Amino acid sequence: MKITDVQAHYLRLPDIQARTDSSQDALIVQVDTDAGITGWGEGCPWGSTYLPAFGRGIRAGLDELGPQLIGQDPRMPDRINLVMDEALPSHPYVKSPVDIACWDILGQVAGLPVCDLLGGRHGGAVPLASSVSTGTPGEMLETVQAFRDQGYFVHSAKIGGRDTALDVARVRHLKVNEADGETIIYDLNRSWQPAEAIAVMNQVRDLDVCFEQPCESYEECLAVRRSTGHPISLDETIKAFSDLVRMHHDWAAEIVNIKIGRVGGLTRARQMRDFCLSAGIKMLIMETGGSVMADTAAAHLIQSTPERSRIASWDCAAMLSVVSAEGAVGRDGVFSAPDTPGLGATPIMDVLGDPVAVYE
Ligand code: MG
Repeated sequence: MKITDVQAHYLRLPDIQARTDSSQDALIVQVDTDAGITGWGEGCPWGSTYLPAFGRGIRAGLDELGPQLIGQDPRMPDRINLVMDEALPSHPYVKSPVDIACWDILGQVAGLPVCDLLGGRHGGAVPLASSVSTGTPGEMLETVQAFRDQGYFVHSAKIGGRDTALDVARVRHLKVNEADGETIIYDLNRSWQPAEAIAVMNQVRDLDVCFEQPCESYEECLAVRRSTGHPISLDETIKAFSDLVRMHHDWAAEIVNIKIGRVGGLTRARQMRDFCLSAGIKMLIMETGGSVMADTAAAHLIQSTPERSRIASWDCAAMLSVVSAEGAVGRDGVFSAPDTPGLGATPIMDVLGDPVAVYE
C-alpha cells in the first residue's frame, strides 16, 4: 500500500463563548492511498501563545513533509516517523496529524479500532477533566458545581498569579468542598515562580492536593518538587521521551499529562505511555487542542491505558462551536473510543471544505 496524496484542510475553531480573541487554528490532514483507504488526523496547538507552536506552522511544515510522504506505506507508523524526522527534524506538532492519519489507515486495514492496535481496550468510559477557569474561590466552586451537574468528577482547576494568599484561599475552598470520589488537580500552567509555589504549598501542607506544572522550566519544577510533599504532575515541560526518562530519574513528578500533538502523534505518545506504565507514573492523556477528530485520537490512547494508571482526558471540542467530525464526544463527564475500525472519526466534509494544500 502506498500514499498517493496528502491534503490539508484548514479550520478556524471559534470558542463557544465567542470571545473575539479566542479562535483556534486547526489543520485536518487527509492521507489517501492506492488502496482507496483514507486516513484522517487533526493538529491544533491551541492558539499561538500556549506552546512553541502555531496553527499556520503545521501548514508550513506540511509543505516540507507532504512530498516526502508520497509513495510511503502508511501502515508502518515507525517508518513514517523516520521519514518525517529525516525530512524535518523536531517540529513534533507538525507531524502529529500525519501520524494519526496513518494509524487510522492501519486500523482500517486491520479491521480494528486504533485503541486495540495501541494495546487493547481497557475498562469502560474514560473520565474527562473539566477545565475550571481562574476566579475567586466562590466563582471557581460555582464552576466546579456546574461541571458536577454535567457528570464530571475530575476537574482541572486553573490557579496561579502573584497573589499567593488568593491561591491558598482557592485551594482551601475547593478542597473543603470536594465531593466524595472527586479529583481536583490544581493546574498552574507554568505561572508560579518557585518562591510562590513553595509559599502556597507550605500553607496547604495539611491538604492532600496535587499541583500540575507549577513553574515554567523543568529545573524550577524540580526545585519545587524537592521542597514539597504534594504530588506533582508535569505537563508542558514533557515534550519528548527523553524528558520523561529524566523526570523519572529525578522523580520529579508522579503524574504526567501527555498531550498527543505536543509529543508528535500517537506513535510517540504511545512510547511515553508505555514507559509510564512500566515506571508506575499515572497519566492524563489528551490533545493540545482541536475539535472532535483531535479528541478521538486521544480517546483511543487513553482507552488502551489500564484504568489504574489513567486519570482523565479532556473534551476540548466541548469548548468550540465547530463540529468537524463524528467521533468520540463527551457526555456525562466521560467519553469512549469508537469501536469501528481505524480512528472512527468521520469528517463532515461541508465543515472541512476544500483543501488549502494538496501534495501528490
Ligand atoms: Mg496542564
